[in-house]
Order: sequence, then C-alpha cells, then structure tokens
Amino acid sequence: MSAAVSRAFAADGPLSLAFPGYTPRSQQSAMAQAVAQAIETREPLVVEAATGTGKTLAYLVPALLSGQRTLISTGTRALQDQLFERDLPATRDALEIGGRIARLKGRSNYLCLYRMDQALDDGSLSPYLRRDLQRVRRWAGHTRDGDLAGVEGLQEDAPVRMQVSSTAENCLGQRCPRYEDCWVMDARRKAQAADVVVVNHHLLFADLALKDTGFAELLPGADIVIVDEAHQVPEIAGQFFGYAISARQLRELAGDSQREAEDAGLADAELVDALQAMSEAVDQLFRQLPHVGGRQAWESAFASAPALAALEALGAAQTTVCTRLDPLEQASDGLATCSQRAIVLNARLKTLISGEDIEHVRWAEVSRTNFALRSTPLVIADRFQASRAREPAAWIFSSATLAVDGRFDHFKREIGAETAREAEFDSPFDFDRQARLFLPAMPDPRAPDYRAAVIERAAELIDASAGGAFLLCTSHAAVREYGQALRERVDVPVLQQGEQSKHALLHAFRTDGNAVLVGTQSFWEGVDVPGRALRLVMIDRLPFLAPSDPLLRARVEHLKAQGLEPFRDYQIPHAAMTLKQGAGRLIRGTEDRGVLVIFDPRIHRTGYGKAFLNSLPPFPVETDRLPILSFLREVSA
Ligand code: SF4
Repeated sequence: MSAAVSRAFAADGPLSLAFPGYTPRSQQSAMAQAVAQAIETREPLVVEAATGTGKTLAYLVPALLSGQRTLISTGTRALQDQLFERDLPATRDALEIGGRIARLKGRSNYLCLYRMDQALDDGSLSPYLRRDLQRVRRWAGHTRDGDLAGVEGLQEDAPVRMQVSSTAENCLGQRCPRYEDCWVMDARRKAQAADVVVVNHHLLFADLALKDTGFAELLPGADIVIVDEAHQVPEIAGQFFGYAISARQLRELAGDSQREAEDAGLADAELVDALQAMSEAVDQLFRQLPHVGGRQAWESAFASAPALAALEALGAAQTTVCTRLDPLEQASDGLATCSQRAIVLNARLKTLISGEDIEHVRWAEVSRTNFALRSTPLVIADRFQASRAREPAAWIFSSATLAVDGRFDHFKREIGAETAREAEFDSPFDFDRQARLFLPAMPDPRAPDYRAAVIERAAELIDASAGGAFLLCTSHAAVREYGQALRERVDVPVLQQGEQSKHALLHAFRTDGNAVLVGTQSFWEGVDVPGRALRLVMIDRLPFLAPSDPLLRARVEHLKAQGLEPFRDYQIPHAAMTLKQGAGRLIRGTEDRGVLVIFDPRIHRTGYGKAFLNSLPPFPVETDRLPILSFLREVSA
C-alpha cells in the first residue's frame, strides 16, 4: 500500500488533480504512510498531527485505498457532517474508488415513530409543543432518512425533539409495533452495509460500552477504526463506562409509565400514586441540591440533612414504582419496557446511594431544570483496552494535541494503549513569519492584583491589534470580570460567554472582524476562526483543573495509592494538552498571522513550566511588549 499512498499524494497524483490548490506536504504523506503501516500490521497507532498537516486526507487516503471496512469517529456532529458531506466523497472520487459510505448519528437525532404516535395522542401537550409536533408529523410523511435535522424550522434544542425521539432506555426494540418502519433501525442497517461509516465519539463509546443494546452493534466487522480528535477520548469514555441517573430520566419514566398504563386500562390508584410520589421526590431533591454550576463532589451535594433525606426518599419512592410496575410487565410491551427501565434506574440509584463501587467516583451536577447523579470510573484504561481487544481492528488515534513535551505517555496510559506505536508531525506553517508567543512580566496568579494586571495588559494588546482577539479564561468569574472591565477600556465590541449561545457568539465574532470574545472551557477547543478575524489569543492562566473538582480529587488519591505523582503524572499533562488546544485557535491557515499571549508567569518561572512551553507550537518567544505591539499593529493593518 505504501507505493499507492505515495502515488496518491504526489505532485501530479490524483489528489492534486482533484483538489484545486493542492500542494504536497511532507508531513501529510508521512502521516499517511504511518497510517498505512498501522492498517497493514493492525497495530494501534497514536498520531499527533499539528494544525495545517492535513490529517483528514492523511488517514482517509490509506483507509480508502486499503478497501477494508472502516469506522471513523469524529469529535462533534459538525465535524461528522463535514467529513461525510465533503471530505470523504471528494477523496473517494479523487481516488476513483467505489464503495458505500454512511453517516450514523445518535438515536436522539432520528424520528421515533412509536413516541410520535404517543405524543399525537397526548392531550396534555402545550399548544407550542403541539404546533411543533404537527410540523414533525407533516415532515414524517415524506422524509427519506428520519433525521430530525431535516424538519424545516425546528430548532436543535426544540422540546418536541424529546417527545419524538427515543433513548436507549425507552426504545421498545424488537417488541415495538413500529419496528419494521423504525428510522433508527434503518440508519443502523445502512451503516452496517456500508464500507465506510462516519460516527461521532458519543455513538462509538455508547457502542463500545454496550450502552445501546437492542440494535446491531457498530463495531463487529470493522477492520479499521479511526478515532479523530482523540484527545477527547478519556473524558467521553469516562461518561460511557460510568453511569448516571437524572431528574429528566425519572420524570420521563413517570410520564411514559402513566401513559402506557392508561393505554392498557391499568392506571389504578396505587400505580398513579406511586408515580406521583416519585415525581414529587424528584422535585424535592432538585430543590434541596446546591444550585452551583459544574461538578459537585458527592459529599458537598449531600452535605445537608434535607438533601440526604430527599435522596433517600427518592430511593424509596422509586423502589415502590418498581414494585407497582412489575406485575404489569405482561400487559403490554410498553409497560414491560417501563418496568425494565425502572429496574435499571433503581439498581443505579441504590449503588450510588450505597457508595459501594469503590472503583468509581460519585458526583452531582445541577442545571436550571435538571440534576444528574453520576458515577465515573477512576480509570478507563482497562475497560477501553478490553473493548478494543474484542474488535481486532487497526485502531488509529489522531489529534492535533496528544503529546506533552514530545511524549505520548499520558494519553497512552489513559486509554490503556501503552504499546501503541506513536508518530508526531509538525505543522508546515511558517511560524517565524506568522506568529509570536508573548510572555509578559506579570504578578503571581494568586496575587490580589493579578486580574487587574491582566486587564491592563489585555487592553493595551487589544488596542494594538484593533480587536480580533480571544481572551480564554479558566473560570466563569474571570469571564465576567474581564468582560465587564474590557467593555469600559476598549473601543471594539466585547462578546462575553453566557450572554448568547456559543454559536451566536462565534457568528458575531466572525462577522464583526474586530471583536473581542471572552470565554472559558468551551472556547478552548473545536473553535475554528481562520483569517484576520482572530489575530490575538490571550490565555489568562495555565488551565489546571480546579482543585475542588471531584473527579480530579478522586484521581489524585488513586494515583497516590499507585505510587505515582499526581501533579507530574496527571495534572501537568492534562493542563498542557488543554493549553495546546487553546493555543491552536490562533494560526489556522498559511495566511493567518497573530500573537499568542500567556499571562500566567508560572510558564517561565517554574520548573514544570517547561512541559507547557515545550508542548506549544514553536512560535518565536518575546517577553518585551514593544516588539509585540508593533507586530500586532502590522498584523491588523
Ligand atoms: S424501535 Fe425504538 S426507536 Fe424505533 S420506533 Fe420503536 S421505540 Fe422508536
């Protein structure tokens, strides 16, 4: 395959004929050769390809040339769409290779005919929901794939979506009266028949963790599994190898059970009272949990006696629901599914309350309308390794950020792939011309005047760049403080996370061309603003996980017990990978120019700072503000 790959990437090869502006890049063809070798040897490969390498073509070409069945998993739905609609068909055509391709989304994206029928019969829906439901019903008459994205004018977060789509828990599977026409089943069948299937990580891990049974699995039969944006794997795998119980699940269970019982003529007072009591217990727990953002340690969430009492009351009420549903299992398929859901949730709730699962960490999350009680494994390596071992495919993990200080140990240890081959490809960008890294003299980040100093320096830099800037923070409090202060200091629009949706903020930022965007975690990665609109990326602090984070605390204890050094072996590599992601927002193309600023002086004053510096793209470093200000003026001119 090596020769075929070389031919494909040659200056006069098929890619150059098919893609206008194609120029051979040594990093890209070298990565393609590494992928080809992994496919041939079926050895796992961990590959870091810096922005600009062209990693998508570098894995697509050998996978397509191999003619083997391939599963590609991307980080987001947007990337999944881009790959399926643009990159994959274009590459396949360029290589003149046949074969079927398919895109498979999570089941919440597809119409569930059974639930739509139920919703249409539900007289208690609000007029607003009913209007959207009618819209879905009209579209359902002519859709060809059941993908709810096709319903014109239906927002991504429209509440009706929940009414007309299924979850792994509420799906009736083969017992469903609409099974033969089921769109989820149809999409899975097409995916199974395809040669190349594009999924996203949530779907891949639901499949790996066997969290979505009842339908055929995705992985059997795949010869090649390519996991792009692989740096997200540890976090997502943790979610899927763990479990959760949420207010939403319990409320849905109550609603579905009541409806199914009414349809079967079995909604007696005992059942209705039990469902009502469970719903009230959910509401009571929701009121008693501390309403603070982010992950809460279990001990903090249930520190108060009323919260603990509410949890125990919920456990008891949910057990009663199980008892009431059990004798109704034979009455209808819908009631059987409800009863099974109740049993599964009951087991989870009991394990969570008991805390007996010592390999997991318990934590809670409370939003405006929902709470989730979660249990996440401390280590996913063994589970993930075992799942991979079940599928003897060539596994390729690719991302722009996997190595820390040139080493892959952290990532490989996290996913249990210590023996995987590794490869690292630098960016082809001309950083000497395109970029600078500015490390200004700053107070210690714990000093009381630190934020004032950040505002002072940031305002001066924004003036020089005439906007076009991101200020990436590590807390919402910092976002608010910086956002407010900068609005008073600079002459360009300041956009602040939390004031509009992420999508709307990015749209406003790109359209304006000279705006400043102040944001936290969700803007550190997966944000692509090529061109002049983004010419200054400022980073407030080294992005260490908050010491109060329950997952971090549990992992620190776990690593200590293993004789490891948590700061060196987990916190630094984790933060360095996040920093690398943030830094990666700046230079997205050969014509981009700009300055990366890291205010946190620990990067050059501490011993561990080197691990961060060595993980960043090799921009020329500057500590003096005057050359940086003039570089910014030049870039923004
Ligand atoms: S099989 Fe599941 S997803 Fe399909 S229509 Fe029935 S309940 Fe809905």
